[in-house]
Amino acid sequence: MKIAIDGPAGAGKSATAKALAKKLGFIYVDTGALYRGIGLYVIRKGAKASAIEEVVPLLAEIKIEMKHIDGEQHIFLNGEDVSGFIRTESVSAAASDVSAIPAVRDFLFDMQRDIAEKNSVVMDGRDIGTVVLPEAELKIFLTAKPEARAERRVSQLAEKGIEANFEEVLADVIQRDYNDTNRDFRPLKLAEDGILIDNSELNFEETLEKIITLAKERMA
Ligand code: C5P
Repeated sequence: MKIAIDGPAGAGKSATAKALAKKLGFIYVDTGALYRGIGLYVIRKGAKASAIEEVVPLLAEIKIEMKHIDGEQHIFLNGEDVSGFIRTESVSAAASDVSAIPAVRDFLFDMQRDIAEKNSVVMDGRDIGTVVLPEAELKIFLTAKPEARAERRVSQLAEKGIEANFEEVLADVIQRDYNDTNRDFRPLKLAEDGILIDNSELNFEETLEKIITLAKERMA
């Protein structure tokens, strides 16, 4: 079985997808980490992530692998476990930029399909229900108002001891939404048979419960 969870940044996709996968005994696949791996490589090379002509030649030098170790997904970039380096703001921005490049999306496409062919998966991303796994039995589009997502991000950062300015975080959320929904190639959008869940007013458990109920209906 395949479950796709798409949606904008900060809607809680990864935490929800991870918990759902655990509950169902499926493999959780965080596809954003793959784009982040490429973003990191581009930064390390000193290239400009939004410049197609700079990024595309680098793809031939990149080997990205995804391995599950003790139930946690790890990303390997040319053999190096870079899982600890891909969550910074600069890598987020680079990932968002490189993800608009068709050659990058094609580069990662087979890999994502391959994992889903071999396992039951909960896969989160932006185009999973629409492009990567159009045959998924359940497609969720998880979203929340930009203000709610920015607020959550500020709290997450505060937990890590990082003080962030709400207005700046909100501007970043809105910018990333714009990039993801307006790119020409495979933008973020609700699949025709996708189910939209706005969790602005729902907490984590309520969101998870809603999706578990839907998944169980599809599995029955
Ligand atoms: O989900 P996450 O925030 O880690 O993704 C990083 C970036 O990768 C996103 O801003 C988005 O632009 C891109 N992405 C994508 N398609 C996916 C997953 C992520 O374009 N399936």
